[in-house]
Amino acid sequence: MQLGIAVLLLRIKEVVFLKKFKVSVDKELCIGCAACTTVCDNFVMEGDKAKPKKAVISEKEFACNKEGENVCPVSAIKVVEEK
Ligand code: SF4
Repeated sequence: MQLGIAVLLLRIKEVVFLKKFKVSVDKELCIGCAACTTVCDNFVMEGDKAKPKKAVISEKEFACNKEGENVCPVSAIKVVEEK
């Protein structure tokens, strides 16, 4: 019973307090090098352009997506906190 309450409180904390981030790929800038897909599985190729599987991510997924942003040679990826 107490374990169930603890799990419920953790879930509420996740929903209420964890930050969310928006992930986007500018298709005009993307050159289709696929570097982002090698560092984060949230990025997939669609034809010759990359796209995020999830456009809104949790704090837990931030590091991986930020690495995708950092490896993009043309700065096509943006990971910004959702307000
Ligand atoms: S790293 Fe940048 S340019 Fe390369 S596929 Fe990903 S979004 Fe496109």
